[in-house]
This record gives sequence, structure tokens and C-alpha cells, in this order.
Amino acid sequence: MTEQRIENMIVVGGGPAGYTAALYAARAELEPLVVEGFAWGGQLQNTTDVENYPGYPEGIMGPAMMGEFRAQAERFGTRFITDDATELRLADGEINTVVVGGEEHRAKSVVLAMGAEPKRLGIPGEQELQGMGVSTCGVCDGAFFKDQEVVVIGGGDSAMEDSIFVSKFASKLTIVHRRDEFRASKIMQDRAREQDNIEFMTPYAPTEFIAGDDGKIAKVAMENTQTGEKKEIEVGGAFVAIGHTPLSNLVEGQVDLDDEGYVVCKEPSTQTKLSGVFAVGDLVDHTYRQAITASGSGCKGALDAEWYLRDTPPSI
Ligand code: NAP
Repeated sequence: MTEQRIENMIVVGGGPAGYTAALYAARAELEPLVVEGFAWGGQLQNTTDVENYPGYPEGIMGPAMMGEFRAQAERFGTRFITDDATELRLADGEINTVVVGGEEHRAKSVVLAMGAEPKRLGIPGEQELQGMGVSTCGVCDGAFFKDQEVVVIGGGDSAMEDSIFVSKFASKLTIVHRRDEFRASKIMQDRAREQDNIEFMTPYAPTEFIAGDDGKIAKVAMENTQTGEKKEIEVGGAFVAIGHTPLSNLVEGQVDLDDEGYVVCKEPSTQTKLSGVFAVGDLVDHTYRQAITASGSGCKGALDAEWYLRDTPPSI
């Protein structure tokens, strides 16, 4: 019977954080294995033009950018499994096991980079019109809505922040929230209210995003959550900003998670409570959630893992 290979590092997740971790680890000659997911590329796989990642002055499509990240990691010896991890058995300073389908892969260190996903409303038209006027990222897509009327759905800080950003481009922006009270901090609400082109519409919940003849969003149908009154407003864009869900279910009960399910690290490092297990990117980030911040975090994770393998590697 042949001995099963023990990897230096397995990166779980194939978004900007995971690929950047792999690039750094590969250049450190650690030959990382990336379990990149069946739908590799992470949230950027669902993004059109990316104009805010330095180094692409003309912008680049999200999937193409992820292809380049992946190719750069591959160039230095990264290997990939294009499937989803189904189970992680993490150890404290010992050998970890990553299960993909029926196969077990063992590693001295693991970099968790599973990311997060934007919460969805689950209404008709939301999925179909994604990239056709419906967006879950104001900071990413706001500039495409110059001089258009748009709505932002949500009542938290994300909705306020997206609104303040997008209102620089949109002619008029309506914040649609299902209650009269807001979860957003007062200062963020005040900043939004100070903008001349931002209006608030409460207590309304969207019930459908409706396409026009050109296939792009044309209207949002809404319902008053108290009276049941129905309304439609014409829009050129709709931003859904109702929060994110970190994809931490595979590590629940193994590493510390905060109240919202984000992995807790021993900051400023990326180390979880388990030696040899690191967490990076949107899986740990409540706040910034940009490709560039995820990449930076992935770099930190790889360096932390590299130092761990150098200084205190698990005995085999
Ligand atoms: P959040 O605080 O959980 O707010 C989500 C909002 O979306 C809530 O108002 C919620 O309504 C609404 N919502 C949820 N599901 C909905 C549904 N199905 N239909 C309609 N509305 C729905 O999430 P967040 O705004 O992303 O903020 C997350 C964390 O990041 C917070 O701690 C926030 O302070 C932080 N953050 C900070 C900043 C900043 O300081 N610059 C920026 C962004 C985020 P209800 O209120 O009725 O539940």
C-alpha cells in the first residue's frame, strides 16, 4: 500500500483570497493544493466589469480576472481540485483532513478561504436580472448607473454605504426598507439623508424585479408591509444590500465563529484558534469585502502558514 501524500498546505476556496494565498505559497515552493469549488472563482464569477482592481486600467470581467489569478498561481506549481470540499476535519497543530467527494486529502496546514455570499431576497426576477441591472455590490457596480434612477434594498449599514456611493452616479436613489426603523448606525443614516438625491421609502418590501423589452431591469414591484398596498417604480438599477452570509458551515464547531458566523482569527494574524489553520478573505471580513482586500488577506494567510510550517510544523 502506498503512503498517502501529506500536503504542506491545502487552500479551501477559489476566490481572490484563495488564489492569492496559493500564489504566495507556490512561490515559497510549498506546492499548495487548492480545493477551488465546482463554481471556482467565487463571487467574481457573477460579476461583470471590475474597474476597481489596481493593475487593470481598462477594467476586466470578473470571471476573466479570476482566470488570471488562477493561472498565476498555477504557473508556480499550484494544483487544483475543481470541486467542493464536503468535510473538513481540522486539527490543532496536527495533520488536517479535507474531504472532497469520496477522497480524503491530508495537509500540515489549511488556509480557509470559502468566502461569503450576499443574502438574496428570493423574489422573481432577482436571479434572472443579476448583471442586467440587479446588483449585490454598490461599490463594484455603482458607476454603471450614471444619471439613472435606482433603488437600494435594505436598512443596515451596507445599504446606507452602498446608497451614499451609488448616489454619486445615480440621478435619484430610493432606499427601500421593510420597516420604519433602521438597523443602520445613526451616522450612516444621517449621511444618506444629507444627500439631495436620496429618498427613503418605508415600510416596503420588493416583491418582483421586472424586465423591460431590452432584457434589463425596468421596474420594481413593492408591497407596503403594514397595509399591503402595492406599488411599482421605474428604475434603471436595483441594489440588494441586505447583508452577507459567510460560508463557514464546514468549520462550525471546529474554529471560533462570531455571532454572524464569520471565522474569528487571532488578529492581526490570520490564525484561527487551531495551530496550522488560517482563515482569510470574506470568510473573516464583515466590513470591506472587496477583491483587493480579500487578496491582501489571502497573502497574509499564506505567509502565516509558511512561517508556521517553518517554525512549528506538525510532526508526522
Ligand atoms: P445588517 O445590519 O444585517 O442589515 C441587513 C438589512 O437588510 C436589515 O435592515 C434587514 O431588515 C434587511 N433585510 C434582511 N433580509 C431582508 C429581506 N429578505 N427583505 C428585505 N430586507 C431584508 O447587514 P449589513 O448592512 O450588511 O451590515 C452587516 C454588518 O457590517 C453590520 O455590523 C454593519 O454595521 C457592518 N457594516 C459597517 C459599515 C460601515 O460602518 N461603514 C458598512 C457596511 C457594513 P431588518 O432590519 O428588518 O431585519
